[in-house]
Amino acid sequence: MSSDYSEYEQDFFNAVDRNTMAEQSIFDALSNITDDQYYSLFEVNAHHVCGPATVQVFPERAGTLYRCLNCGMAGIIGG
Ligand SMILES: [Zn+2]
Repeated sequence: MSSDYSEYEQDFFNAVDRNTMAEQSIFDALSNITDDQYYSLFEVNAHHVCGPATVQVFPERAGTLYRCLNCGMAGIIGG
């Protein structure tokens, strides 16, 4: 990341990086799920933006719905 960014911009990009890494961690935790785990709600351990956390996931073919049980943040990964 270039140091030409202002602090305002750097803070923004750092937040995006943290979220991207957290989503990658959740995605990695789903790398060896079985077909019958799709369209069902279960929990995985992942490194969320808040730290190591248990994350509820609901994998769909179009993406994965998730909610962090540590900080409460929820969203959709992928597509
Ligand atoms: Zn969290």
